[in-house]
Amino acid sequence: MEYESVIGLEVHAQLLTKAKLFCACATVFQADPNEQTCPVCLGMPGVLPVLNRQAVEFAIRTGLAMQGQIARVSRFARKNYFYPDLPKGYQISQYEEPLIEGGGLTIDLEGTSKHIRLIRIHLEEDAGKSIHGENLADPTRSYVDLNRTGVPLLEIVSAPDLRSAQEAKTYLQKLKTILEYIEVCDGNMEEGSLRCDANVSLRPKGAQELGTRTEIKNLNSFRNVQRAIEYEIERQAEVLDGGGRVVQETRLFDANRGVTQPMRSKEEAHDYRYFPDPDLVPLCVGQEWIERVRQDLPELPETRRQRFTTHYGLPDYDAEVLTASKELADYYEATVRLYNQPSPPSSTQERDW
Ligand code: ADP
Ligand code: MG
Ligand code: ZN
Repeated sequence: MEYESVIGLEVHAQLLTKAKLFCACATVFQADPNEQTCPVCLGMPGVLPVLNRQAVEFAIRTGLAMQGQIARVSRFARKNYFYPDLPKGYQISQYEEPLIEGGGLTIDLEGTSKHIRLIRIHLEEDAGKSIHGENLADPTRSYVDLNRTGVPLLEIVSAPDLRSAQEAKTYLQKLKTILEYIEVCDGNMEEGSLRCDANVSLRPKGAQELGTRTEIKNLNSFRNVQRAIEYEIERQAEVLDGGGRVVQETRLFDANRGVTQPMRSKEEAHDYRYFPDPDLVPLCVGQEWIERVRQDLPELPETRRQRFTTHYGLPDYDAEVLTASKELADYYEATVRLYNQPSPPSSTQERDW
């Protein structure tokens, strides 16, 4: 049987705010364990969260860059689960009323463009980090570092519009480029400031209905996103060809062995007992604020690429490569400016080159 693969990505982007989402703790990477904590992010009783305005502004900026609808009223919800790195016993996220709905972005694949729709973008706080492993002083223990607890994240959820591992990788690269251009996230996958879960399913070619999906966690590089999806597509095809059924579950990618493995059965939304967080008022975003953010939106990669072809007369491919990274594009333009400067008054020495 011939299958079509269907992929949707959930991307977590750490926002470049100085403080956490609901307290004033710093967000510096690699501080000493548990140095950047306070009663609020430690989940002590009797404390109250206060929303970081800058995080909301970054979210709005992202929503506008992706042509999403910014909700005038959105709400924070508690997502309840137990884990040692989640001191409150719940994560503050958004559920029924996210800050941004819809929108999308266009990816280019060998000269053809394809629009990938977004379902939603919402704000949430990160959890802490559990540390286990052989290189610890005592490998029988696990440790918890709560510096990351409460750091602001954007969750960007794509529609199941991607059809191959290559498309998924290209989409993720494009997303990273946009987030870098609008300066809301540094896009560093190794440091975990950009994290991706991939949802993968197969269906017979030509079918309309979606097949049963698995969700793959732990994808910490573009290459691994591609490898994990490729593996998972093959695995599911084998299961189906053998007359079996794909089990809806969460799987973990083992980068050393290049395989995905079952981690847990897929949790359902009701397992989390979501409910509106009574400690936080609804988030109301006025039209003026949205317009101000829109005015300040920097040039986006798409526009810059076009400008590179029209203004500098560069071939499409070169413009694409140069603008895929904001840093490289800035460097290119700085170089061109230098090159175009009138030469300084010539010295007494004659130049023969
Ligand atoms: P959750 O994973 O939290 O249950 P959703 O059901 O909203 O959330 O789906 C999350 C992601 O899974 C989205 O990116 C969506 O496009 C993708 N997705 C949903 N169903 C499928 C499917 N059958 N095959 C592939 N991807 C899917
Ligand atoms: Mg999911
Ligand atoms: Zn704190």
